[in-house]
Amino acid sequence: PTTPHHTAGGVPIATDQPSAAPPRSFLISVVLPCYNEDQVLRRTHDRLVRALHDLPHEIVYVDDGSTDGTWPLIQQLADTPGSVVRGVRFSRNFGHQAAALAGLAEATGDAVVLMDADLQDPPELIPSMAELWFKGWSIVSARRATRHGETQLKKSSAYLYYRLLARLSDQPVALDTGDFRLLDRKVVDFVTSLGEKELFLRGAISWTGFPETSITYERDARGAGTTKYTLRKMLALSRTGILAGAASLPLRIPTYLGAASLLGAGAALARGSVRRAAPLGAFGAQSLACGVLGEYLLGVFRQVQGRPPYLVMERTESSHGTTAKAS
Ligand code: UDP
Ligand code: MG
Repeated sequence: PTTPHHTAGGVPIATDQPSAAPPRSFLISVVLPCYNEDQVLRRTHDRLVRALHDLPHEIVYVDDGSTDGTWPLIQQLADTPGSVVRGVRFSRNFGHQAAALAGLAEATGDAVVLMDADLQDPPELIPSMAELWFKGWSIVSARRATRHGETQLKKSSAYLYYRLLARLSDQPVALDTGDFRLLDRKVVDFVTSLGEKELFLRGAISWTGFPETSITYERDARGAGTTKYTLRKMLALSRTGILAGAASLPLRIPTYLGAASLLGAGAALARGSVRRAAPLGAFGAQSLACGVLGEYLLGVFRQVQGRPPYLVMERTESSHGTTAKAS
């Protein structure tokens, strides 16, 4: 069941539904980062081709430094007639976000669908995502209603993390949404041109602010094999997410801590307790000094991150010529 929700992170971002005529000719690219997926990739490919049979498409596989038979399999799939397949192979494992970015850069479609290779993201959802794109939505994300075949630890840590990130982030964050989404060409171009060395893809995508909608789905268990997202990789991703989306909050903790300590020191002093006030005051002053450094660091971080100060989505212009200047 796929119900459209025209919201991101509970915040309505487009009140009236964009509506445009379906494009007369278009190409949809599907990007799949793969790391040691030779047990499932052929099945993924077959289901994908079946689901896409009505849509002009290309499939882009990015082999993120696999050490199993993934790359020869991708080569085979590219040689099989019936679908347009392109493969890119990394020199080593650079991680899922890097592989996804490489796939976006490689894709030539008017819309690009990013999905996992392990059949946790059902390919059958792509036609419904494309429908919403035809209607004018630039970003169509797939929100997980339920997750099957994952450990309780993973489910609850993901649940908490999404809510923490949404609370901390400077921009709205879609809850319970992974990287499975369709992106209009304009969004793909903006995201691939950011040039950030450490990109939190879904954060960068919602940062563009293009009209976003979502559909919900039941997340299946992995088709075969085991998770390639080790605890280490998950922690690294959550760190990147917070750093890129909510950089200001962690850097401001010392400011708040320092201010609170100094207030406490003041209160102690008012009650005549110099013994209490002295250490609190010393700590507060140091913490506040760290907070000042944090503000500068934040300024430097934003400058180095180098996101453009604005993005232009559309233009309009009078068609009846320029106004004559009064002489
Ligand atoms: N992946 C990748 N590089 C990595 C880890 C994962 O390209 O270093 C791919 C993986 O092959 C899959 C997707 O990213 O297509 C999601 O990974 P996985 O299914 O293992 O993560 P989980 O669903 O368990 O969070
Ligand atoms: Mg998976």
